[in-house]
Amino acid sequence: MLEQVPTGLFIGGSWRPAKSGATLPVDDPATGQVLTEVADASVEDGMDALAAAADAQPAFAAMAPRERGEILRRAFELITERIDDLALLMTLEMGKPLAESKGEITYAAEFFRWFAEEAVRIEGGYAIAPNGASRFLIHKQPVGVCLLITPWNFPMAMGTRKIGPAVAAGCTMVIKPAAQTPLSMLALAGILAEAGLPDGVLNVVTTSHSGQVMEPLIRDGRARKLSFTGSTEVGRKLLQQASDAVLRTSMELGGNAPFLVFDDADLDRAVEGAMLAKMRNMGEACTAANRFLVHRSVAKEFGDRLAERMGALTVGRGTEDGVNVGPLVDAAGREKVVELVGDAVEKGAQVLVGAEPVDGPGYFYRPTVLTEVPLEARVSREEIFGPVAAITVFDTEDEAVAAANDTEFGLVSYLFTENIGRALRVSERLESGMVGLNTGLVSNPAAPFGGIKQSGLGREGGRVGIEEYLDTKYVAISLGD
Ligand code: NAP
Repeated sequence: MLEQVPTGLFIGGSWRPAKSGATLPVDDPATGQVLTEVADASVEDGMDALAAAADAQPAFAAMAPRERGEILRRAFELITERIDDLALLMTLEMGKPLAESKGEITYAAEFFRWFAEEAVRIEGGYAIAPNGASRFLIHKQPVGVCLLITPWNFPMAMGTRKIGPAVAAGCTMVIKPAAQTPLSMLALAGILAEAGLPDGVLNVVTTSHSGQVMEPLIRDGRARKLSFTGSTEVGRKLLQQASDAVLRTSMELGGNAPFLVFDDADLDRAVEGAMLAKMRNMGEACTAANRFLVHRSVAKEFGDRLAERMGALTVGRGTEDGVNVGPLVDAAGREKVVELVGDAVEKGAQVLVGAEPVDGPGYFYRPTVLTEVPLEARVSREEIFGPVAAITVFDTEDEAVAAANDTEFGLVSYLFTENIGRALRVSERLESGMVGLNTGLVSNPAAPFGGIKQSGLGREGGRVGIEEYLDTKYVAISLGD
């Protein structure tokens, strides 16, 4: 099956190797073995991709919105038909269990269905000036060439969240997937070409030196937009680079989600929500619950029940039946989890379950629950990106909200309470772009996903998702005498 996946650069509608002939290895995190090699682009290849996108831009902007929508709709159908093969590919390159890969692919495809429908709903306006003497015509135009950069943790969905609205709006693009997981994106490019996307609209560049290859494209001036999903650290750097050519930017950055459980919560729902918010993608999600803030009166019961559920999960290779937890993406990712857990235990945290890596090949780590975690522990302040639930106890609502907001991040918060007044009050006070109220899952293509503070700029999905790829033009009309 791996033999059928393209491994070249996709530029101007053709597959080709890197000009230098260089390739980069793609590893299976469950074994540490090389799965295959893909083209390793240089700056020159990147510039070719930008030129192809710039050439294709005028014709694509002029394509009928319905046609653009139908390309996305066909791609949605092709992805859905091929979900089994695509899931296997994703599990091999990224590690998550097959069922989770299928979940991501369904989610990814839904962005195409959603934006297929949005392509024909790009609206403008007509207004009479306040003094009555002139008229305003307001319409939306594609931003132009977009540079899209995506992370390894959701190899397809982080791409379709950007490609979907860009195609719907009439923008061409260069996309750079993470070097660790390029295969799902390459497969997706093949599907979009099959669905009728014109040559040059989507160009895919895989490279082992992302900074070097992308910076000249960002500074070039032909691209008009940069949309990035990844760490806050890299996002800051890209914002600086984008300031040269004053690019439109969308930034989907890191998170440090608080998960609040009040004394009036339904603990069945809270534990279920915790499993989802913590263990989706082995904890390698920007939306992963990072800090469990639990009311003192229910902390013991919540911790014990969560530990029981976490301890019962099966860790193993994502391709095997019955596995719930795959490997972490690489040795460095696992080492960080080992360090954060070690630091928390040193500072007084108690281990309820797990807290150790799994021996053998691959980068496995046992699902872990820690309690009595001090707020100054690193695990409470940094993105864990692993299967570790860190519980800290609170006594009052004010204390819980203050602790939840005590972070530079603001992507998502989770809140469990059966009290409607508290639910609304606390939702309003939480400093995050999204709140999961009695649910551990907020992601939905029809809803505006995104963060505030240092978790990002802009929204992906929902009615506002396409706006990120549209400029507003206003025509002032004089009626004459
Ligand atoms: P990352 O290191 O920031 O990398 C993200 C992407 O940026 C990759 O394609 C990477 O390529 C590329 N990149 C790295 N340095 C670059 C540079 N100097 N110039 C241009 N591109 C560069 O993040 P990650 O470790 O892959 O992903 C995990 C992070 O993403 C977490 O912080 C997570 O919270 C965040 N995330 C956020 C969202 C959201 O919607 N808010 C969703 C998912 C993930 P290479 O890896 O090939 O170098």
